[in-house]
Amino acid sequence: MKRILVIGAGFAGLWSALSAARKLDELNRTEEAEVVIVNPAPFHSVRVRNYEQPLDPTLVQLDTVLGPAGVKLIQAKATQIDSATRRVAIEREGTAESLDYDRLILAAGSVLVRPPIPGLDCHSFDVDTYAGACKLQAHLLTLPALPDTPGRYTAVVVGAGLTGIELAAELPARLREIVADADRGKVRVVLADRSATIAQSMGGAQPVIEGALKTLDVEVRAGVTLESLDEASVTLSDGAASERIEAATVVWCGGMHANALASQLPVTLDPLGRVPVDTFLRAEGVPSVFAAGDCARILIDGTRPSVMSCQHGRPMGRYAGNNAVCDLFGLEMLPLSIDWYTTICDLGPWGAVYTEGWDRKLVTQGETAKATKRTINGERIYPPKSGTREDILRAASPVVQTPPPTERAG
Ligand SMILES: Cc1cc2nc3c(=O)[nH]c(=O)nc-3n(C[C@H](O)[C@H](O)[C@H](O)COP(=O)(O)OP(=O)(O)OC[C@H]3O[C@@H](n4cnc5c(N)ncnc54)[C@H](O)[C@@H]3O)c2cc1C
Repeated sequence: MKRILVIGAGFAGLWSALSAARKLDELNRTEEAEVVIVNPAPFHSVRVRNYEQPLDPTLVQLDTVLGPAGVKLIQAKATQIDSATRRVAIEREGTAESLDYDRLILAAGSVLVRPPIPGLDCHSFDVDTYAGACKLQAHLLTLPALPDTPGRYTAVVVGAGLTGIELAAELPARLREIVADADRGKVRVVLADRSATIAQSMGGAQPVIEGALKTLDVEVRAGVTLESLDEASVTLSDGAASERIEAATVVWCGGMHANALASQLPVTLDPLGRVPVDTFLRAEGVPSVFAAGDCARILIDGTRPSVMSCQHGRPMGRYAGNNAVCDLFGLEMLPLSIDWYTTICDLGPWGAVYTEGWDRKLVTQGETAKATKRTINGERIYPPKSGTREDILRAASPVVQTPPPTERAG
């Protein structure tokens, strides 16, 4: 029995495994190869929703999807990849084991970058992982019981990429729900970033985002860096002067870096720590290894590097899984190329913005864009809810979806 081993059950890993299972089924070769996925948790975390609450309903229990597809789940953490001997070391319930593979798909995702800023490790929260987002929410729920200090209901979000913007837009309403009626006026949310303007990379949507944040009472601080933080405050600096803001809650949203497992392959990583892959998702120069999602870098339209996103991670997974099976049996692989790019940024109770193209041309905003975001976050990125083998395998076909539909003006 040959083995296709997938590391990670996020967007890229889940769809890699399902796509490999689909191809084996199509070829009628399920008796010749097994698909095994290694993931620390028994669930698929829909990471893009970590700025929301409650999160438990967003999780997908892996056995409900992998079971019908015939994929074997090993609940463990991969610790070492030896591409010379085709072996992956794993840690399962504290015990070291190893797994051989015939084809490997590395899909271990990314982690939040944590620069050595004083106090960052001990006093900041994040929404990078399900666990991190749960910890933040648990902390917010304790605020009413804390002593009545000036910063008790102040939250400072540092880093105004999409994650920071989406969280900052949610927080005023979320905090107002938690605090007592008499204290609602004390809720303060600040979004800080080192760029000269907030949401600088958002093209035509930039002024819309800035306006929405204002409507939501989110204060913005642009052109500042995080100097330090402690239990009760955060200090921001614009290079000339520092501002200390009393805040019981600081959330760090400072960007992502590929999982360290990527550095174990004999390749030159890109600046984000990603494995360069060819158009078939093969790790360049490493036989029998594929990579997908945030830990891989493909030229997604033949020219531009893929973006760390579920938008790219899911199709990368579908093609990697398909191609790993094809490669194993000497069949023709499929090249991945996506000629469209969209960004849909949630703006909490205000709505959302939807842009098209790499220059982010504004297409829709407000409730119209929010309806699209709800469809993406609630349906498009989930495996079929029917749970049947047929539906799951069909959804894993190596095809590129069309852009998410949105209602256009005129
Ligand atoms: C709050 C937030 C909002 C976002 N919003 C958007 C958005 O609107 N649109 C968008 O396209 N993208 C968005 N992103 C980015 C998106 O979530 C990631 O790009 C995407 O999750 C990458 O998918 P992935 O499968 O590569 O990695 P992940 O989803 O991170 O999955 C990696 C998996 O690998 C597992 N793993 C890690 N290490 C190991 C190991 N050693 N052994 C075994 N398994 C391991 C992890 O537990 C996880 O299950 C957002 C991210 C965040 C945090």
